[in-house]
Amino acid sequence: MKEFEAKHSRADIIAQLIVEYGADTTLSDALRRELRANIYKCPKCDGRGYIKIEYNGYPRGLPDSGFVYEAAYKDNKCDLCNGIGYTSKKMQPRMIMDGWTEE
Ligand SMILES: [Zn+2]
Repeated sequence: MKEFEAKHSRADIIAQLIVEYGADTTLSDALRRELRANIYKCPKCDGRGYIKIEYNGYPRGLPDSGFVYEAAYKDNKCDLCNGIGYTSKKMQPRMIMDGWTEE
């Protein structure tokens, strides 16, 4: 089962590379382009490729479900770097002005 999952996720990666670089690109070319293309560490996930998301992990179907909050965490693929951890362009947060305050 573990071997199947490993092969399956590897197939996903290869399929993604074919979409990105085309089926005729060699693996070494794809690696070269990948390394050259993504040189900036992703500021959103800090190079990890995923972001920890907090959610309510309290079991459903209990009398107090929906009233009790139990923090649980899961890893979500980073949408800024697409799970790579690095980006081809230097990214920075877009600040939104939300009012005025005294200095
Ligand atoms: Zn990221």
